[in-house]
Amino acid sequence: MKNSQTKIQTQTDFEPIALASPHPRRSRQAKIAWESCVVTVGGDAPVRVQSMTNTDTADAIGTAIQVKELAQAGSELVRITVNTPEAAAAVPSIREQLDKMGLSVPLVGDFHYNGHRLLTDFPDCAQALSKYRINPGNVGRGDKRDLQFGQMIDAAMRWDKVVRIGVNWGSLDQELLADLMDTNSRRSTPWQVRQVMYEALVSSAVASGRRAEEMGLNGDQIILSCKVSSVQDLIAVYRELAQRCDYALHLGLTEAGMGTKGTVASTAAIAILLQEGIGDTIRVSLTPQPGEARTQEVLVSCEILQSLGMRAFAPSVTACPGCGRTTSTTFQDLAKQIDDFLRSRMPVWRERYPGVENLRVAVMGCIVNGPGESKQADIGISLPGTGEAPAAPVYIDGEKTTTLRGDNIANEFHEIVEHYVEKRFGVEEEAHA
Ligand code: SF4
Repeated sequence: MKNSQTKIQTQTDFEPIALASPHPRRSRQAKIAWESCVVTVGGDAPVRVQSMTNTDTADAIGTAIQVKELAQAGSELVRITVNTPEAAAAVPSIREQLDKMGLSVPLVGDFHYNGHRLLTDFPDCAQALSKYRINPGNVGRGDKRDLQFGQMIDAAMRWDKVVRIGVNWGSLDQELLADLMDTNSRRSTPWQVRQVMYEALVSSAVASGRRAEEMGLNGDQIILSCKVSSVQDLIAVYRELAQRCDYALHLGLTEAGMGTKGTVASTAAIAILLQEGIGDTIRVSLTPQPGEARTQEVLVSCEILQSLGMRAFAPSVTACPGCGRTTSTTFQDLAKQIDDFLRSRMPVWRERYPGVENLRVAVMGCIVNGPGESKQADIGISLPGTGEAPAAPVYIDGEKTTTLRGDNIANEFHEIVEHYVEKRFGVEEEAHA
């Protein structure tokens, strides 16, 4: 039988492969301000991470503590429920607690049904919040709808606040939907029901934004969202929303669920849209699993942005999944210890070493990919696989610098990382001083 060999074409035969990067965003920029602080959303601002508390807002201390946890995890805006007079009355005190703790994060008030009344009756609340979330499907019915929506926009103008007009699949304006269904039934080729729902969501958000502008609110003070709970629906709706307006857009899959399902579904939807240049703030709406911290949703948001190369929040650890070549748990233990070490050091490093969040660390399980990946990272360690000599070479900036042996590999590697961070990012700090 004749031996045949396929010739691999070299790169000279092709055009260079295009680099992948998110498309540019084209939204207006909103400035979410409180006291002398500002968080920008949209325009050339980085895509912001947002989250929401699940405490009773009337419990000012408990809510302030959770806001602090979310902010320290990386949330740049935190939304709180404002649903009762007690909750509205507690808002100024929550702001005060945060200021006392030196926490620089804006509070967003989430209003439904009675927001017009609460913002009118509790001016200190209206002032302490930096942004109001208005759901056009829940502002009132019939004649009251425009009136009560107008009262909320009036409050935003009076206190110079940004609003997010947040339409939600589960609380869609039923009168608008009925009108659109009616129109659809008269079409010679009616749209699918799902397409009518898309239209209702997008129309409700854009029309509400335009109405707020007609009332005198600046377009830069308006952010829109249209949240649905399925990935393909979210993609369809936001593509259209981004076509029809240039308001800044808040992005997220609503009721995503818990655990892996919620994380994967949110990531799939958000990542696709961000790559298309759609979305200026994101929230991953995870249902916490029993015992799970509320901050998990913030960590997922940060990981999405960091994985897409859009932001850097913490050093990234490249770790191989392990396989039959590394049958012991030593490798998994070490990878976890290093990850925990990096997270625990970040609060100090962030203050002391600007840029440290860009650090890339590799923890690899054997000789197959270990040295290669370790050389690509800023600092990497290649552990011995089954049958390999009990030695772990360490690579710094692509060069092998030492080999660790024995039972104390993790601690010795931590010291090497600490020293590297101090040397590399500490020097930068001095240079910037
Ligand atoms: S680097 Fe080694 S241990 Fe890790 S997945 Fe690859 S072959 Fe397996």
